Amino acid sequence: MLETLSTERGRSDRLTHTEHLPAREARYAPWPTAIRTEIVAAAAGLGVGLPWAHQAEAMDLAKNGQSVVIATGTASGKSLGYLAPVLSDLLDGTEAPNGRGATALYLAPTKALAADQRRRAAELVPPRVRVALYDGDTPPEEREWVRQYASYVLTNPDMLHRGILPAHPRWSTFLKALKYVVVDECHSYRGVFGSHVAQVLRRLRRLAARYGASPTFLLASATTAEPAVTARRLTGVPATAVTDDASPRGPMVFALWEPPLTENVGEHGAPVRRTATAEAGYLLTDLVGAGTRTVVFVRSRRAAELVALQAQDQLGSPLAARVAAYRGGYLAEERRALERELHSGRLLGLASTSALELGVDVSGLDAVLLAGYPGTRASLWQQAGRAGREAQGALAVLIARDDPLDTYLVHHPEALFANPVEATVLDPDNPHVLAPHLCAAAAELPLTDSDLELFGPSTAQLLPVLERRGLLRRRPDGSWYWTRRERAADRVDLRGSGGSPVQIVEADTGRLLGTVDAAASHTTVHTGAVHLHQGRTYLVRDLDLDASVALVALADPPYTTSARDITSISVLSTDTTEEWGEATLSFGSVEVVNQVVGYLRKRIATGEILGESKLDLPPRTLRTRAVWWSVTEDQLLDADIPLDLLPGAAHAAEHALIGLLPLFATCDRWDIGGVSVPLHPDTGLPTVFVYDGHSGGAGFAERGFRRAVEWLTATRDAISACECERGCPSCVQSPKCGNGNDPLDKAAAVRLLDILLAGAPRPQGPPSGAKARNGQDTGANDAPDEDHARDAGDAPDPSDARGGSDDPDRSGTRGGSDDPDRSGAPDRSGDAVGTGESGGAGAAPAAPGTDAGPAAPDPAGPGTG
Ligand SMILES: [Zn+2]
Ligand SMILES: [Zn+2]
Repeated sequence: MLETLSTERGRSDRLTHTEHLPAREARYAPWPTAIRTEIVAAAAGLGVGLPWAHQAEAMDLAKNGQSVVIATGTASGKSLGYLAPVLSDLLDGTEAPNGRGATALYLAPTKALAADQRRRAAELVPPRVRVALYDGDTPPEEREWVRQYASYVLTNPDMLHRGILPAHPRWSTFLKALKYVVVDECHSYRGVFGSHVAQVLRRLRRLAARYGASPTFLLASATTAEPAVTARRLTGVPATAVTDDASPRGPMVFALWEPPLTENVGEHGAPVRRTATAEAGYLLTDLVGAGTRTVVFVRSRRAAELVALQAQDQLGSPLAARVAAYRGGYLAEERRALERELHSGRLLGLASTSALELGVDVSGLDAVLLAGYPGTRASLWQQAGRAGREAQGALAVLIARDDPLDTYLVHHPEALFANPVEATVLDPDNPHVLAPHLCAAAAELPLTDSDLELFGPSTAQLLPVLERRGLLRRRPDGSWYWTRRERAADRVDLRGSGGSPVQIVEADTGRLLGTVDAAASHTTVHTGAVHLHQGRTYLVRDLDLDASVALVALADPPYTTSARDITSISVLSTDTTEEWGEATLSFGSVEVVNQVVGYLRKRIATGEILGESKLDLPPRTLRTRAVWWSVTEDQLLDADIPLDLLPGAAHAAEHALIGLLPLFATCDRWDIGGVSVPLHPDTGLPTVFVYDGHSGGAGFAERGFRRAVEWLTATRDAISACECERGCPSCVQSPKCGNGNDPLDKAAAVRLLDILLAGAPRPQGPPSGAKARNGQDTGANDAPDEDHARDAGDAPDPSDARGGSDDPDRSGTRGGSDDPDRSGAPDRSGDAVGTGESGGAGAAPAAPGTDAGPAAPDPAGPGTG
């Protein structure tokens, strides 16, 4: 198959690597004796004679009261691994006098997943064990029953935070018997959301302890680096990782593919590659033409339609009728019909968003094409895993998009096929995250000194700040009380990123199209911006900041827009510094001030600049965490980087660093920002900063600091290996540059990284654990912002949709996330999720290069006081 696609079509130079993944035999283990025979019998009824070795290992650990994280591949039976011990103990519990001697709580990141889990559990659960869903859709009359009688309660973190913990006295008998907490899909708890969930779990542990329970945590994760470290950060308790996957798998050929350069010329004359989606359309055409059942995974709804159309056009009748698109936004019956037709073989080709990732009944395909790296290895394997039937070979092809990360990956297969380097990153100690949970915890039960350790090292400093703000009051006995009338838990939305979201409203009809986070609004829905929503193009007529409304109208401009901004950064405090020869690498707290000053109109497809307009928007301030490095003038001299080349060298290095960080942390480049400064006032030296785009930090910059040697080495390799002459989107150009990708000096950037790395410690130390925020300035000025709370119903409607998530369950609530088409074309500024770029075409060469993170400046934040 691959031969046909590459050599026979004269495309062999596009094939950068072929990985042969051998078939893997299943390894079984006996059922642990502690698992009840009823469960073993129920499993046998489902066709499971013996558990796989990793399942048995997890069961043993759990039954011994050891918290465990199962981090194995897709379809490796993680559910059975945690369900067997949980259900065994719940069954034991039914023999207690009250019939509920043991209880367990199951947490899924989405409502849909919890519902799915209930169906799965039902097949194994003995009739005496009462299983119940408890979420925003649970009718009030059922809720009381669940609290009183259910022993296995399935819910989500939002409901735990808002519904269960604040009402803990009504859950007292449930909490008293709490034996297990299952945290499913725990790799999805990352960044700020993950940090919130970590604090919700600490509140749960505290209340459970109050009722005398100390539950064992059972976590299920996709394969990531350092699962035990992440599990401990998330739950606060040590967990043993089970990673040796013993499930069987068929052989697979995994190809890495780089689309060819086109005739088109991008910004500053850069060469432009064919987009991953267009290339996928060609490959799909050939595969379907050869009768191969193929699914193409794309990152946006629009791309799904485009790839299907392209293949249909190229195939012509009658094969065209056997190709279709599949995406969120279709009616459920349409989707079921497509799944059936693919399953039956009537459909040969399907272009799909990740909506299909969750589809139940699509597997056993012959080939899977991934148009662009899906962002994490977990998603990569989830998607590729759709290909392959038992004992039959399958093909997966990753087609690189024109950006540094994808380009790096298709030229560095070891980053995909060797041990995972990317870890799930979160930072529960972020004071912006912690503070509202301290309030919620105090409202649940007054806080005492004995709680300080549970909530982490920032707690002691934060409590007096919260008292000064009139949120908590300290009693003479030393305990802290919540004093307000409103519910403390309502002060924080686990999935919000701070500030009132801006509503996107159709001017003529008044229809609400969606919302965009306040932090991203200046760059994405400023007056004059092109805004994409569900494949339609709108122009923003007016952004009204006071009303938090952007009025838009349907339009068909021949251009996209990209915001230009100016950014300054100052160091508030330095936590850690490493000497790398003469250079220094630091991690600490910074303040970023960003102002969107105008926008460019760029012709669609070519990126040609048609014009620039000014905007009058206020600056926004973000206090966050950053990693930064500085080099000395002597080093620059040694590296042959004269002062006039320095801005371009530092700026280019900064862009590529942002592009490569997602290889090491579960973020994407839109979660982080950067600034490069030829002479920074705080360091007195040329300095490059990379910062978390969320107030207080999300852990990404810290991960960069911990993995700096590998990160900088990968960055250097990515730039130097790119075949372009002077910089292109595959290496140093950024789609969200604040300076219009000017100046950039690719060759000098490599030299700059070389001198930096020359002094780097080798080899890299062991993985970091949860690190105390020693030395961080958490004084009054750094206190959490008052307006962090945002109203949201207790029914979570996860909107963590970012780059590609098109989960039907998640789309729709935030218009901005619906159509994150970042594939291919250089013009991506219409996308409401991302950040625009900026800087002014005529930015002086000495101006700092800036690339603001999306959730950047938060005007409600503490920095503006
Ligand atoms: Zn390049
Ligand atoms: Zn830039």
